[in-house]
Amino acid sequence: MLHSTQYKQQLLIKNLLFTPIARNDNQEIVYKNNFRMNYKEFKKRVNRLANLLTKMGVKEGDTVAIMDYDSHRYLECYFAIPMIGAVLHMINIRLSHEQILYTIDHAQDDVLFINSDFIPIIEQIKGRIDTVNNYILIADDNENAKSKTIPFIGEYEELLKEQSDEYIFPDFDENRRATTFYTTGTTGMPKGVYFSHRQLVMHTLGALVSLSTHASQGSFHQDDVYMPITPMFHVHAWGIPYMATFLGVKQVYPGKYIPDILIELIDKEKVTFSHCVPTILHMLLSSPKIDNVDLSKWKVIIGGAALTKALVINALKKGIDIFAGYGMSETCPFLSLAQLDLKDLEKDFDSQVNIRTKTGRALGLVELEIVDENMNKVPHNGVSTGEIVVRSPWLTAGYLKDQKNSENLWRNGYLHTGDIANCDENGYFKITDREKDVIKVGGEWISSLELEDIINQHTSVSEVAVIAVFDERWGERPLALVVLKGDYEKTVEKEIIAHTKEFIKKGIMARESMLLKIHFVPSLEKTSVGKINKKELREKYRNM
Ligand code: AMP
Repeated sequence: MLHSTQYKQQLLIKNLLFTPIARNDNQEIVYKNNFRMNYKEFKKRVNRLANLLTKMGVKEGDTVAIMDYDSHRYLECYFAIPMIGAVLHMINIRLSHEQILYTIDHAQDDVLFINSDFIPIIEQIKGRIDTVNNYILIADDNENAKSKTIPFIGEYEELLKEQSDEYIFPDFDENRRATTFYTTGTTGMPKGVYFSHRQLVMHTLGALVSLSTHASQGSFHQDDVYMPITPMFHVHAWGIPYMATFLGVKQVYPGKYIPDILIELIDKEKVTFSHCVPTILHMLLSSPKIDNVDLSKWKVIIGGAALTKALVINALKKGIDIFAGYGMSETCPFLSLAQLDLKDLEKDFDSQVNIRTKTGRALGLVELEIVDENMNKVPHNGVSTGEIVVRSPWLTAGYLKDQKNSENLWRNGYLHTGDIANCDENGYFKITDREKDVIKVGGEWISSLELEDIINQHTSVSEVAVIAVFDERWGERPLALVVLKGDYEKTVEKEIIAHTKEFIKKGIMARESMLLKIHFVPSLEKTSVGKINKKELREKYRNM
């Protein structure tokens, strides 16, 4: 029981900034080649931003939205906006303008920060935005940025200069909503997920402890140099900017993701810790410039989609310490990591590749279960599959203003991920499919992810997506949409089929995979966060 005079300490985002693990005031925060500051200056800028917002009339509970690339300004918003008690809305800049309008309206944004690159989007919907009272321009390197129709009250840097660098941040209930962003589902308009101060602080502590306690592989520590390559609008760049700031490490924000700039920054700023979806790493490794850079100190967590063996092998050959992490927008996101123990590092190359591509072991404080349709737990034998359901202190309470989908997300007291997985005796999970991506061939399920993993290992294959297509006899059959590394030759198709059959013969793939069809495409459609868009591919090729 609390003594009546005891101070009731709340878990607030300001604690990550003001009571960090280490005070590294001279440590740097860098934005592309344009701007550098130290943590002392960063804290002053957070205070100035808080003063600016307060002067504009932003109150507790108001919503402040931002449309920007990954930048030091975004990091300032991660802190200042929730710290004054307002809600930060991270707008997905890759959505269509109608979807962006929907999210601004739905989140009831009061203030909007806009990088000049996105002025054309807002100009298209300007007359229909009802809630926003104040627009602030982020001019970046574009000194001539202006708009005839958007009534900007000023430019970010200019406005910040005018503010005091002192601010007393209030205390409030740790359960107050701190952030909101929208996830694009398979149907309908994007759904808003949201996180409280408590959830974000718990996620920072929980994921950081799990990530940092490994003796020699993949550990995120004080001497690292951090650069996100997962957009800051997507699940707070996996929450790692909060962890990086709490750790006090050097941080590098790359702006718009341009492969040459990313590679240059890794080299120049000596980046040692990043995270991204597989397609982005694949793109970076395909750039000729990558061969001139020493990547032997670069640790990369891959998440958001399954990590294939082919990508791991390619990355390891270049010296990158690559491993998978798993989570989703609704889970803040971290749930599991595929880090290697010291004993794993003594194993041969193939075994290590195997571990790195698993979905991983649950983090501390994460209760990860696999269940059948009746919520019975499925045995952890590395074979039996079921849906992953989860409990932990940092999962979204539901979808914003959406009772029906929230209740469906939280059925039977667990958050339902819709991911199908097995788990081995050592607690390693392996996702075999998403519920909506599984392929049912004549009554048998086959795993699209396993097929992709195998096809990807063929030397001619650059990228692949396996989807279910309609088949009169079998109901469904697998179609592999393949992007080749070189030009198409007739023999390649036969080779890929033969390569896949080898795995079927060895019993690694189900016999139903024999029905595989291959179709070569110049590229694969990607989602707004850069993942392969199976939903769109299914629509396009379903009746092929
Ligand atoms: P999002 O909400 O866009 O971040 O997507 C989350 C989904 O990405 C999850 O539900 C999984 O289906 C998928 N995903 C994330 N991490 C992994 C992983 N390591 N392996 C396989 N699928 C993953």
